[in-house]
Amino acid sequence: MAMGFGRKNMEEIKMEEVKVWECSSDSCNCWVRDNFKSSQVPACPICKSEMNESIKELQVVNNNSIYTK
Ligand SMILES: [Zn+2]
Repeated sequence: MAMGFGRKNMEEIKMEEVKVWECSSDSCNCWVRDNFKSSQVPACPICKSEMNESIKELQVVNNNSIYTK
């Protein structure tokens, strides 16, 4: 096996744009993936505020469904 330059970590980082919902509360940083029906506006799982639709670029990892900013 050749050891050369530019052959460092070949680990693949996959990014995907996903629709998410962000909490509308300024004091809460919670957001969730869009696992909801499109007609449905979810409530924040932490503070129960309304959530706003948004798009985030996320690294594809395991299937956590709740993140913080
Ligand atoms: Zn919240």
